[in-house]
Amino acid sequence: MSNIILTGDRPTGRLHLGHLVGSLSQRVQLQNSGSYDEMYIEIADAQATTDNSGNIQKVKDNVIEVALDYLSCGLDPNKCTIFLQSEVPELSDLTFYYMNLVTLSRLQRNPTIKQEIVYRNFENSIPVGFMTYPISQAADITAFDANIIPVGDDQLPMIEQTREIVRTFNRLYGETLIEPNAVLPENAACHRLPGTDGQAKMSKSIGNCIYLADSKEEVERKVMRMFTDPNHLRVEDPGVTEGNPVFIYLAAFSKEKHFQEYFRNPENGELEYNNLDELKDHYERGGLGDMKVKKFLNYVLEDTLAPIRAKRHELEEKIPEVYQVLFKGSEKARKKAAATLERVKTAIGLNYRNDLDLINGQVEKYALLHAKEKD
Ligand code: ATP
Ligand code: MG
Repeated sequence: MSNIILTGDRPTGRLHLGHLVGSLSQRVQLQNSGSYDEMYIEIADAQATTDNSGNIQKVKDNVIEVALDYLSCGLDPNKCTIFLQSEVPELSDLTFYYMNLVTLSRLQRNPTIKQEIVYRNFENSIPVGFMTYPISQAADITAFDANIIPVGDDQLPMIEQTREIVRTFNRLYGETLIEPNAVLPENAACHRLPGTDGQAKMSKSIGNCIYLADSKEEVERKVMRMFTDPNHLRVEDPGVTEGNPVFIYLAAFSKEKHFQEYFRNPENGELEYNNLDELKDHYERGGLGDMKVKKFLNYVLEDTLAPIRAKRHELEEKIPEVYQVLFKGSEKARKKAAATLERVKTAIGLNYRNDLDLINGQVEKYALLHAKEKD
């Protein structure tokens, strides 16, 4: 079986640290490993309209932001196909057929959707398109025969929904679609990075993000205002590291080299902290202030983000070329999705043009009828 990777993002804002650790870094690693047959990255602009129907300009404007973020993190259009969902109308056709394989109550049980409805104040007026977006994600995945889906853990219910659709489809119409597998980051701290406000998930739609494109000053300002342990009032108080976003970010981003560089005493060469466990121990014991930990986090984030920011500045001078990457990628993606749609319609039996049995059968039926009328 081929290894086909598909993943994507909604152009509802610039990409943030959650995207980087949850999915982008994995994509770049997979891409550079070369151990795959095809790789598709979708900018899900059509999906983004499901909760932004009154603000299409926002979606449009963010397409280029997401594309710039992709390329500045190292996604390479020579190795992966970056495309725009709205440029591949075959995906909507697939969604339409898959809709018949899912019940409304199944959609209503999806825990990510439930949470997103609350975040968006949709409780009393859920757009139908929004409610069904997990089905359109199934179309996105299966259109490309993708089996490897690098995502953060909020996407697990979507992948499960896709797997169910694939199984139902194959049972009803014969083996046609491939069942995908979610690939979560190895580091558990990266599965769902919390927001700077300590909320469960850093999310563009909540506005609790550190963006990849934020300036050095913005990152520092956001880090310094970050939520920590609210009961850690004085330096000498014992602090809690569990669920404390500052320590979760350190678990996601800090490497051994950061401790070596930042905590070495220039006079005697000794390391103040060898690793994150030692830093955590001190915070939990008491005697380590939030400010010191935040300054270290700022150092770690700056080390991570500076090269991405620099690459982005270069790319911001080449906007037309970046759009061309999307248009070319979309053409390629469309060919593949069209072939899958053909396969799906044939499996269902809606392939009139190639169905000679159907046409001949109808010819015979009327020939017999007319022969009887003549008798
Ligand atoms: P929106 O609020 O518009 O839904 P988002 O911030 O949730 O935006 P998406 O475009 O929905 O971002 O997510 C794209 C990918 O990034 C998905 O694979 C998702 O799992 C991953 N991701 C998003 N936020 C996080 C996070 N905080 N931690 C880990 N992964 C994340
Ligand atoms: Mg999301």
